[in-house]
Formats: sequence, structure tokens, C-alpha cells
Amino acid sequence: MILPIEKGDIRITSPYGDRILYGVHGFHGGIDIVGTSSDNIVSVTNGTVLWSQMVTDRNNPSWEWGNYVAVMGEDGCTIYYCHLAERKVKQGDRVKAGDVIGVMGNTGHSSGKHLHFEVRPKNVKAVNAADYLWLPNAVTYISEKEYYSDEVCKICGFTSGTRAYMNKYTWAADLWRKLAIALRRLEGKCGRDTIIKRCGFLPHTVKYIDEYKFASEFWRKLGERM
Ligand SMILES: [Zn+2]
Repeated sequence: MILPIEKGDIRITSPYGDRILYGVHGFHGGIDIVGTSSDNIVSVTNGTVLWSQMVTDRNNPSWEWGNYVAVMGEDGCTIYYCHLAERKVKQGDRVKAGDVIGVMGNTGHSSGKHLHFEVRPKNVKAVNAADYLWLPNAVTYISEKEYYSDEVCKICGFTSGTRAYMNKYTWAADLWRKLAIALRRLEGKCGRDTIIKRCGFLPHTVKYIDEYKFASEFWRKLGERM
């Protein structure tokens, strides 16, 4: 998985789940993220832009999202990127993981510049977006070097010695990020639909797999080997 901020460390400022905001109980359907060195928002998946808009009608709950972009990924999950200052893609565009789709902002129901990142499998109910990105669901600081070296070493099977060796260099964070994005972009060479067709998975098997948080990893890894 990759982070939705183009580069640099990030802070999670509000986790997913029940919360009290301005004294009111509510449910936070996503996680709030702030980039510490970049405002550019990137797609975390390969996919198609389902929505790129700003709803101004306050009777429509979507107005709270301000400027937002929604990308439907190969795994059937729709990812929402909200409160953007600018949208850089339009409905129907194909995007690859790592492509800039907007700029972090403060539009809609928002009290400071941040990204509201939300994940909806099959476009229905929001699931824990922190789990989806393999991040802790808590207010915390994430080092991109740690995050991306974890990801790349896990996928490629690099040892901790290799990781420590690379991490001595000043360009290590850049290297890990670029590798993680390159790996992520490979997804879809043999996408989920093709895998299902080729393997003859039955609908109930697919449904079973998709319910787990590792589903997108599973489809991607299987696809890379087909
Ligand atoms: Zn939020």
C-alpha cells in the first residue's frame, strides 16, 4: 500500500470511528491526514475516477466533503479524498497509484487544512481506512521511510540487514517510496476480474475473500504471479 500524500512524513490527526467534534457525538467515516512536507494528494490505487466534484447543496450530506475525488480501485473499493483545495482529475479518468489527483485543502465541513481519506468497499459502508493503509488507527506521526521500507521489504523479502544498509543513505526515504509506488502500479496487470475468471472462483468465494482487510493485497499478489 502507499500513502495518499505525494511525499514526506504524515500525521494522522483524527482516527476512524466514534468521536466527539465541537461537543457533538458522531461517527468519523474516514481518517484525517496531514502531510508534513507536501500538499499534493495522490491516488493510493490504480483505478477510475468515479467522482470529481464539489456539492454545494447543504441538503446533500456530501457538501461536508467540499471538493472531493473518489477513485474506484481494481479491488472494487472506492476511495474518497475530501476537503481538497484543488481537484486535478475529472470523472472517468484512469489513474495509477502515485498519480497526483488533487491538493490538500480546507473546503466543506473542515476546520483546518487536511485530507479526509475514506474507504468504501463496493461503494457502500465505510470501513476502517487506517486498516486499509496498514496504519495505526490513532492520532500519530508516521515516518514515510519506516512505512515504505516495511512495505517494500515485506513484498520483496529483503532482510533487515538490507533494510538497515539502505537506511544509512540520505536518499533512502525516496528510494523506498519510489519502489513501493512502482510495486503498487503493477497491480492491475492482471486485475481482480481477470483472476476470478481465470481461477474460476465462485461468487461466494470472492465475497468471502473481499470481507477481509487483506483482500486487496491478496488480489494484487496473486495478479503479479499470473
Ligand atoms: Zn475526516
